[in-house]
Amino acid sequence: MFTVGCHLSSSNGYLSMAKTALEIGANTFQFFTRNPRGGAAKPLDTDDISDFLSFSKENGINTILAHAPYTLNAASKDPRIREFAQLVMRDDIDRLEHTPGTLYNFHPGSHVGQGTDVGIKLISELLNEIILPGQTTTILLETMAGKGSEIGGNFSEIKQIIDCVSLNEKLGVCLDTCHVFDGGYNVRDNLDEVLEEFDKVIGLRRLRAVHINDSLHGYESHKDRHAKIGEGHIGLDGFEKIINHPALRSLPFYLETPNDLPGYAEEIALLKSIYHE
Ligand code: FE
Ligand code: FE
Ligand code: ZN
Repeated sequence: MFTVGCHLSSSNGYLSMAKTALEIGANTFQFFTRNPRGGAAKPLDTDDISDFLSFSKENGINTILAHAPYTLNAASKDPRIREFAQLVMRDDIDRLEHTPGTLYNFHPGSHVGQGTDVGIKLISELLNEIILPGQTTTILLETMAGKGSEIGGNFSEIKQIIDCVSLNEKLGVCLDTCHVFDGGYNVRDNLDEVLEEFDKVIGLRRLRAVHINDSLHGYESHKDRHAKIGEGHIGLDGFEKIINHPALRSLPFYLETPNDLPGYAEEIALLKSIYHE
């Protein structure tokens, strides 16, 4: 089964997102847990959540993906910024436990001159602080484009973080097609090799979700600018291979392309038309 959705605004709650997803032909969605720049989360609406859970069950909405604010930096030099990231992520997970089995994606962080090794250590320390043995939420490390001092621009850095976390059965990876292509993994021309490399370094069992974005800039550009599917350097042929690849085809795919809702509806229809049932 093809599981596909896009990033949606969470401002009207869970039920509203699920309904929107259905309207645009999706069977899952991604959303920000709070204002993407950080800040306080809205109080949890438990009625909305129970409505959402029954609606999703009736209408076949699958595993949803919550995205942490992208301004968090678990690898910051400043202990207050790291503490803030820790508080936000722990609180997000507490809230996500109300929708059991949700995926929670975050950007590993930027070491801002401290070096990759220090960054990796700080990120894994934070994860060791926040992961609880009983949680049903799986935390996903997003593969990054390697912009500036971003950590997670190659598979080895992600693997090193996972290895330093004791309860790492709660960790997985979200592969962003634009980011990895930008970061030097050619998913357009050498998809098999990239996935073999992923398997060798991290292990494909960790791969839990795909951010499906075309790339405005060329291979290895480290720019991280998303394009609509088929309008960037990966191209429609590339995505036909990506969504049908045996190692990827049963994962959930989340669009983060520059689109409004009608644009997303078209893009989802396009992807469905090239998915081999
Ligand atoms: Fe992201
Ligand atoms: Fe992404
Ligand atoms: Zn991006």
